[in-house]
Amino acid sequence: MNRGLTVTMHIRLLTLRCLMALLAVLLGSSAMAAGPDILSKDGLTLHAGSIEWVAGHRDAAFPAAATENWAWQPLGKPNLGKQSEGAWLRFALDGRALPDASTWYLSLKWPVFDEVRVRLFYPDRGTWGPLMRAGDHLPMAVRPVESHNLVFPLTVVPDEPVVVYMQLQARELMALPMTLLDEAAFAADKVADVAMISLFLGGMLVILLYNCSLFVFTRDTAYLFYVVYLLCALFYILAMTGFGQLFLWPETPPLTRRFYALSAALSLFTPLLFASRFLGTRRYGGWPWQVTWGLMIYWVVVILTLLAAPDLARYLAIEPMVLVHCVLTMAAVINLWLRGNGSARMFTIAWATLLLATIAHLLALEGVLPLTPLTLHGQLIGMFTEFVLLSIALAERINHERERRISAQQSALRASQALAFERESRLQAQQEALALQIRNNEALEARVYERTRALEDAKRGLEQVNAQLARVSVTDALTQLHNRGHFDLMLDEEIRRAIRTEVPLSVLLLDIDHFKRINDTYGHPFGDQCLRQVAETLRQHGQRAGDVVARYGGEEFAMILPALGPQEAVEQAERIRAAVQRLQPVHGETRLTLSISIGVTTLESLPDCTPAQLLAAADAALYRAKHSGRNQVACAPITAMPSIAGIRV
Ligand code: GH3
Ligand code: MG
Ligand code: MG
Repeated sequence: MNRGLTVTMHIRLLTLRCLMALLAVLLGSSAMAAGPDILSKDGLTLHAGSIEWVAGHRDAAFPAAATENWAWQPLGKPNLGKQSEGAWLRFALDGRALPDASTWYLSLKWPVFDEVRVRLFYPDRGTWGPLMRAGDHLPMAVRPVESHNLVFPLTVVPDEPVVVYMQLQARELMALPMTLLDEAAFAADKVADVAMISLFLGGMLVILLYNCSLFVFTRDTAYLFYVVYLLCALFYILAMTGFGQLFLWPETPPLTRRFYALSAALSLFTPLLFASRFLGTRRYGGWPWQVTWGLMIYWVVVILTLLAAPDLARYLAIEPMVLVHCVLTMAAVINLWLRGNGSARMFTIAWATLLLATIAHLLALEGVLPLTPLTLHGQLIGMFTEFVLLSIALAERINHERERRISAQQSALRASQALAFERESRLQAQQEALALQIRNNEALEARVYERTRALEDAKRGLEQVNAQLARVSVTDALTQLHNRGHFDLMLDEEIRRAIRTEVPLSVLLLDIDHFKRINDTYGHPFGDQCLRQVAETLRQHGQRAGDVVARYGGEEFAMILPALGPQEAVEQAERIRAAVQRLQPVHGETRLTLSISIGVTTLESLPDCTPAQLLAAADAALYRAKHSGRNQVACAPITAMPSIAGIRV
């Protein structure tokens, strides 16, 4: 028991020293290259000779490797670069101090070799051990040990040297992180690897689910692209660590042989997709956007080539492009950061972490850095750290989004308040305008009303003036009887009516007797007074409807008496004459006697008659009255000749 424990401890120590020796070899230590010295403190010794390699001889048989004089050279670093024609490795083991025959495990921790073939050669006996094969072009079942790494059990017999020959084939980089472990150390190593990958996968699962749920809740495609990126990275890790082949695709149909390159290309393409969405690279434009586009196109071409014509992929210069990709994307992200993209800061840190880890990993493979579990799994650790940082960045984005939403809401609120205010002020302005309009309308109405009234007043005044004018134009100023113009108009009208209705029409011409004398004796004003008194008398005797009383000129008057026959007209004339005689105007102490001569004529049953004929007849009658001694009524018929006998009443 005690011994078992010690052996285990020693074996662990041995494993560690094996690794260190290997690293020392890889770092180019000439002392180590000359002859490895792996010794336990107890004296349990496994001598491992220096590792030698030779390129090519792809199809050579194992015996040829031992017998033919190939140009073997010491291995200076754990990396053979790309060897399209394959390569051979050999190193000697010497279990001189081992008590029993024992099995050691040669573990090649780069499980993406297409195929690795191993055989042990026992030079003392000149015999070869069985052929062992492993690699990602072979099904899991043919491997000597089912493991995610390429593991070969080596049987070492005490005190007998053995040389390990390995034939390697790979289309990609040939990295050689190898360990030589005893059974217990091998088991412990496997547990450590499984624990590490489990931790990684568990962590990835958490991040994946977290981002899936973020996508479901926010509908932000940045999270979806991130999930896609995570899945591709997961695919890459599974392919690169060999766990994919161990658990997911143990049989190797042709497509699975390309999983390593395919997953690597996808892991470079999808972060571009994610970054451009997450950082809004397109919005920023400029060369970062062009670089993103260019690289995306390049990786799409690579992916399609790997799927459709994998043999052509070697013309696409993938390895140098990975370096270009890393430098350009880093520069682009930093550029966005410097241009004020908040998310680019965290992205830069995350991306830088992965890059540093990858660089450390590559430097370890180049022999510049020691190849420790840390540098060997650097990419895994870097990737995980990157994912954690990106998740933080995405979570931070939610914060930013929320802040942006809140500020957007606030500005929307402010805008709506401003809008409401503007609407209110506009409404107020409208109301004021309306009130002003109403006031203006009222004022206008009042003015219109006033003007209308003024117009009506003016119209009324005008009508009165017109009426007055009309009256004045037909009225004699002294006597207020109708004037001669009006008389003539009326006479013409009445003649037509009389003829039309066949009703008699009488016309009287009246002349004051010896009026000149009155004027001469008592003065013109008294003459005027007499004229007014006579006129008033005449008006009183011509008041029937249709009667017209007019001053015909000087002291002469004329009357139209419709519907009066000759007899009635003469009677009426006689009443007038008598009334004038009764006037007897007084001048001072003197009472005067006025008399008037009247000529009467009547239009009766005549088919036609002119005013001139009628007046001529009346005038003739008046003439007769004057010549017959005045103060009397004479009448005359209407004839062509005015000479007719006067009638003395
Ligand atoms: P007879 O009997 O023949 O008619 O004589 P008479 O004097 O009346 O006639 P005459 O024609 O010779 O004179 C008319 C006079 O009437 C002359 C004129 O002075 C007077 N007369 C005419 N018009 C007016 C007037 O408007 N006012 C006054 N006061 N006199 C007038
Ligand atoms: Mg006269
Ligand atoms: Mg007279």
